[in-house]
Amino acid sequence: MPVLSYIHQLFHLDQCQAYIHTLRWQDRPLQCPRCHSHEVDPWGQYHYRPGCKRYRCTGCKRTFNDLTETLLHQSQRPLAYWILAAFLLCLACSSRRIAREVGVHVRTSYRWCWWLRNAALSYEMQRQLEGTVEADDLYHTAGQKGQAHQGGKKSLGRRARGRRKKREPGRGHYDKDRPAIIAWVSRQGAVVLQATRDFTVKTVQKAADLAVRAGSRLYTDSASSYRALQGYVHDFVNHTKKEYARGEVHENRAECLFSLLKPYLHVFRGISKINLPGYIGFFPCLRNFRQQNAFEQAELILRAALDPAIARRAKKGEFVTCFDHFDLLQTAIN
Ligand SMILES: [Zn+2]
Repeated sequence: MPVLSYIHQLFHLDQCQAYIHTLRWQDRPLQCPRCHSHEVDPWGQYHYRPGCKRYRCTGCKRTFNDLTETLLHQSQRPLAYWILAAFLLCLACSSRRIAREVGVHVRTSYRWCWWLRNAALSYEMQRQLEGTVEADDLYHTAGQKGQAHQGGKKSLGRRARGRRKKREPGRGHYDKDRPAIIAWVSRQGAVVLQATRDFTVKTVQKAADLAVRAGSRLYTDSASSYRALQGYVHDFVNHTKKEYARGEVHENRAECLFSLLKPYLHVFRGISKINLPGYIGFFPCLRNFRQQNAFEQAELILRAALDPAIARRAKKGEFVTCFDHFDLLQTAIN
């Protein structure tokens, strides 16, 4: 038996290429990614990339292939690397782990992970819950990890926080390195997670308007920000009075979601608050497609990554509902 270091050495190059070709053009007509003309002719193949079909557009007279303008465009790595990376991402591996298992540099896998995660977020953009929805909030410690301005050894301007530092009492806030995470869980199964700067009435109202359709039934705990919500049929349980369920009224699904979210976030060993919305955004993608296995989820992500329109926005991170995005929405309402 030969000794192999990486599992993708068993993948067949032509099969990978044919698979990506199918994913790319399956439900899209063959068209030029630059001028969107449908007048295209086959134009040979690449000697260094066997199986990759090349086409020529009669409109703009330029050639393109299956990967042009997608996230995989001009990648020096074989397709098998990408397929395996997407699969491992759906198993909630860290980018360092993916770098080791795939055999690429850590920076490469970090970039791929963010691109693929952002592409996956495109499935969650329009999601709005309805029916009976439970909500709960969590504060996650997230600091300045990896955010050196000038590169090199970063000066924190403070003493290192220490992972095990005891948290300050009371609610967290973005400025205290503990942003809030709000979970909305439909009793039909779909979930929406949002990372917000704080947990004020205004923020929670905005978050609810985005995540839950008006008029839905909402079950929460007794936090005053939830009680001030408008536009929903609202009921709550009072945890301070040791009341956790009153018939139909409880938020155990939301609590359960957090018990799954915490080990997911723990894998990344401390998260920068800049990146928190991205990690938080990807978790519902895994959760909402949980009936499928990891490879089927990876296929969904690759399909999004092979769409030029999604790829362009994913590279810029436009699908991430970042903190500033929330603030902008708030100012638009005021
Ligand atoms: Zn063209």
